[in-house]
Amino acid sequence: MRDRQVRPLSALSPDEVGRLLARAMESASVLAPVRRGRSSFAFAWIQDPAEAVFSYPRTILPPKQALLPPREDLFTFERAPEPVIRPPAAPGPITLFGVHPCDLAAIGQLDWAMQSRHDITDPNYAARRAETTIIGLECLPDEYCFCPSVGTANTREGADLFLTPIGDGFVAEALTEKGNALLGSVEEARPPTPEELAVWKGWADNKESRASRRLEARPEELPDLLEAEYESEVWEATAARCYGCGTCTSVCPTCFCFDVEDMVEVGLASGARRRQYDSCQFPDFALVAGGHNFRGERPDRVRHRWFRKFVYLNREHGRAFCVGCGRCTKACTADIGLVEVLNAVIAEARREEAE
Ligand code: SF4
Ligand code: SF4
Repeated sequence: MRDRQVRPLSALSPDEVGRLLARAMESASVLAPVRRGRSSFAFAWIQDPAEAVFSYPRTILPPKQALLPPREDLFTFERAPEPVIRPPAAPGPITLFGVHPCDLAAIGQLDWAMQSRHDITDPNYAARRAETTIIGLECLPDEYCFCPSVGTANTREGADLFLTPIGDGFVAEALTEKGNALLGSVEEARPPTPEELAVWKGWADNKESRASRRLEARPEELPDLLEAEYESEVWEATAARCYGCGTCTSVCPTCFCFDVEDMVEVGLASGARRRQYDSCQFPDFALVAGGHNFRGERPDRVRHRWFRKFVYLNREHGRAFCVGCGRCTKACTADIGLVEVLNAVIAEARREEAE
């Protein structure tokens, strides 16, 4: 769905997008997709606009790292000469460049989880988010993507400016005043031609038809379908292949579970409270005081991953907590496909319903 547009569409050449990026770098740290090796891409803090790529299938890790870093100190402390607790330094302005629609949707879900859920706001996340400008970038699904199945293929919410490739250049949509100001800094921006506008308008249909991986149910049907299959053998069969490595959750743009640990110097004079990503696929994730483990067996942990995304948070938030980016499937060391597992469970539920 398109957000309110505050400025007419503009056409930009790749050089003009480079100048826009250079302008953004004058006042903010810029996280942008860069090439890694022959065929991989990663979000990295760039020093030069030429490092950024303007077309890529997906990055290994999502841009989530700018808002919720894999590891951070929540505060540090010293006991002497006077006890003191130091909060983290205030973040400076951040620009996320080249964010695909699925990752925009994921940032929207993180905003809910880290700033609104249970009426609690995570101050570190909120401080970074308030300083963030987002430049979105249109893309085409590859064989791992299933964004149309979870309704994220055409997300614009969260972007201040959005770029759609059109032949040699881009159509730029300013979606907020921040995006408008950024676009206004490129003096050469001109209105798109009717031909360019036709390409821009056709992009959404193109995406729908390109996504070959599909869920066999609508996201809102999934809580009931999965709950009917709580005891399904699919979970055992998937767990028999799974190594429990946690790669799937590490690369996921919507996973937000973390562990908190106090790191105290040996003399107890100073230390830090540190948090880092955790994974529900690790054996000790649900281990509690007294030694009880709520998900001590691997099939329980495997099932939990699908239930968390498609049942629990789907009910609580009103949408599946998966944006169809395909990262978990592409990265899985055991070649376990998220959609294939889901479709096997859906088929089983439908078969039993029909009996
Ligand atoms: S569960 Fe997999 S496909 Fe869904 S958002 Fe996470 S990494 Fe992407
Ligand atoms: S990446 Fe694959 S093997 Fe590793 S925990 Fe996830 S599903 Fe299991």
